[in-house]
Order: sequence, then structure tokens, then C-alpha cells
Amino acid sequence: MKTDFSGFHKLGLNERLAILKKATGLSTREVNDLVNSGSLDIEIADIMIENVIGVMHTPMGIAVNFRVNGRDYLIPMCTEEPSVVAAASHAAKLALPSGFKAESDDPVMIGQIQLVGVRDFEKVKDIIMSKRDYILKAANNKDSVMLTLGGGAKDIEVRKVETERGVMAIVHVLVDVRDAMGANSVNTICETLSPYLEEITGARARLRIISNLAVYRKARATAVWRKEDLGEDVIEGILDAYHFALNDPFRCATNNKGVMNGIDAVLVATGNDFRAAEAGAHAYAALNGYKPLTKYEKDKKGNLVGSIELPLAVGLVGGATKTNPIARISLKILGVKSSKELAEIAACTGLANNFAALRAMIKEGIQKGHMKLHAKNIAIMAGAAGNNVYEIASRMIQESNISVSRAMELVKIYRRAGRKR
Ligand code: NAD
Repeated sequence: MKTDFSGFHKLGLNERLAILKKATGLSTREVNDLVNSGSLDIEIADIMIENVIGVMHTPMGIAVNFRVNGRDYLIPMCTEEPSVVAAASHAAKLALPSGFKAESDDPVMIGQIQLVGVRDFEKVKDIIMSKRDYILKAANNKDSVMLTLGGGAKDIEVRKVETERGVMAIVHVLVDVRDAMGANSVNTICETLSPYLEEITGARARLRIISNLAVYRKARATAVWRKEDLGEDVIEGILDAYHFALNDPFRCATNNKGVMNGIDAVLVATGNDFRAAEAGAHAYAALNGYKPLTKYEKDKKGNLVGSIELPLAVGLVGGATKTNPIARISLKILGVKSSKELAEIAACTGLANNFAALRAMIKEGIQKGHMKLHAKNIAIMAGAAGNNVYEIASRMIQESNISVSRAMELVKIYRRAGRKR
């Protein structure tokens, strides 16, 4: 992608769209679908969920400056929160020219079959493991498409879980779901296998469901932010902030929320199940006491090295990724070829958003930049409409007084002036 994206945020909507179209090869129809807020057809929405009565829209922005493994990406992000897209783009710019390095595991998900009424766990485990090959074959009878693509059930594990209601044998079926998020496919496999597991063990199968703690499907990313660009004090501040999160769950929750600001926005834009990613991320963070999903340290030259690791179950097919036309356009803008690549990009945005938030807090506090971007929302909250939204927002920024009370005063002033005109 050769187009220059510097100053993208200063352009008007039509100019931004023209640049995007040129860079990504979107058709005129796709561009129209993006800007036409009615492009998720009510008939399609009615197919997607139950009791449909309408469609709720979320703004989509493009994060720029992302270079990942040497390739430049434009990243669609859907979020209602101001400053997420700007923060990601800014962090990515500071990481240039090297950008981010990212990698991910094969897309292997865990399906769980809960066996209760287990009298002798070791015996149950031995029986199941002795039938491993047959079980995998039976699992793979279900989804020929995934199998043709090189996916399917690859292994099984049997875990002992001791509970107040007795010992349970938990069978994990490890399924390579290729470019799907995988929940439906894995759940189907679990339901298919459970009668056979009951038959050979004499135990009772209860839950048969995917685990969102996708520990075999992690994505990782790193970036180096130079000492010359950040300054030593900011680097020391970010390290202090990281160690705060590492040792305090109250801070850590907010740190990880900032990480998910970036990741969720990419997942929403691509029609992915962000609750699944959230559950997996926080469960992973809590495996050994609740810890940050990101990590910061200094390299030998004193530069700041940031990294992230988390389970990321995302898909290019399945779920709503193909039903929602905007999700399809997002994937075209991204130009990713596999679920692995999408997970890597999402991990980079998580790291970028976390870094940007820490840097802002260390430098000037998070509110200065955030409130500037939020000023228009505050003006609307106070009752402003039309051009007044921009005028009231910029006046509050000029006055360094971005608050609902000031916005309400200004709405009254502008209304009075409007009546006199
Ligand atoms: P899916 O079943 O809709 O689609 C996956 C299917 O697509 C595969 O079975 C395969 O036959 C086919 N396919 C075509 N090309 C493929 C490719 N390149 N790679 C892989 N498969 C390909 O979707 P899914 O991903 O199995 O399930 C995702 C949905 O399940 C999401 O909407 C999610 O919200 C929902 N869900 C989630 C949970 C959870 O996370 N706990 C539980 C239940 C349902």
C-alpha cells in the first residue's frame, strides 16, 4: 500500500473516503455501504438475532500507521469511545519505521465435555485415552469442509476437576478450526462425541461446550518505542505504570480494559464475537493471579520494548463475519488472508492502545486529549444540534472548560442568538 496517510485525521470525510478507496480497491458501492448508515439491511438483521426491532450503528474509524511484520495495514475500528482510533494511530506512528512484530499459534480451540458420576478418574482417563484415535475420527466425521482445509479435531486431553459435587472428568477436544472462530463447530463436535464417551466410561455427560480460554490459540506482538522519541522520563513512567498493574488488580483491570479498547474495536468492525475474546483475555490474565496482558521493559539502548500475549479466537468465516456486509468490507480493507493474521493485527492494536494510554497518562493525564475528542459528544449531551455541536465543542476546548454545565450554558447562548437572527 503506497498511499500516504500522514494528516489523514485532518481531512474531511469525503477526502478520507477517496484515499481509502484508492488504497484498498473498495468499489463505489462498498464505499456507499460504509457511509450509508442503513447498510445493515433490516431483513438481514432480522435473520441475525431474535425479536428484531431495528439496527443500532457504531462509528467506524480507520487506524493508520500500522506496520506489522513489514506490511502496512489500514485497520477498521468500531467503537463508541472517542480517542481509541487516534491513540492507536499515534502509538503505531511512534513505532515506525520498524512497526510491530507479531505471530500467533495455529487456530486450535478447546471443546469441553464434562463427565460426572466418575468413581475412578484414572480408569476413566485410561479408557478414553485408549480410544483416542477412534474419538478423533468420530469428531472429524462432522465437518468435511474444515477437514479439507487441514483443520479438524487433532487431540484429546482428560483433566481431573475436583468439586463440591464430586470428581469430574473433563475431556478436552482440541480442534483446529482454521479461519473460523470455531464455537459452533466445536460445540457440534462435543455434542456428537458425548454419547460415545458416556457409553465407554459409564459416566454421565453434562456440559458439551467450547472453552473461551483458548490457550492453544494465542497471539503475540511486540514493538520498540525509541528513547529519542519518548524521553527517558516517559519510559521510566511507563515502567512504573506497568509494575503498578503487575502488582495491583485494581489498576490491572483498567490496564487490560485499555488493551481491549483496541482489540474489541477491530473485532466489532470485522463482525467477530468480542465477548468471547474478552472472556478469553481476562481468564488468561487471571491464570496466575490477575496480571496485565501487556509487558514493558527496556532494551540495552534504553528504548522501551512493549509486548502483548493473549488468546484470540477470531474468524474470517462463520458467525456474523459474512452476514454483516460492513464486516466483509472491513476484512477487505484489512486485506488479511487468515484468522491467524487477523488475530495478530488485533493483538497489535491492543498493544498500541495500551501504550498510548500509558504514555498519555504519564505525560499530561489522559483527560486532556480524551476530553478534546469527547467535547462534541458533551455538546450533543447538553442539547446541541447541527453546526452548533462543532461551535460549542471548539469554544469549550478554547476555554479549557469541557463540561456538560458549560455546554448547557453555551447551548442556551447559541439558541438565543439563533432566534435573534
Ligand atoms: P460457523 O459454524 O458459523 O462457521 C464455521 C464453519 O464454516 C465451519 O464449520 C466450516 O464448515 C465452514 N468454513 C468454511 N470455510 C472455512 C475456513 N476457511 N475455515 C474454517 N471453517 C470454514 O461459525 P463458528 O466459527 O464455528 O462459530 C462462531 C459463532 O459461534 C460466533 O457467532 C459466536 O458468537 C458463536 N458462539 C460462541 C460461543 C462462545 O464463544 N462461548 C458459544 C456458542 C456460539
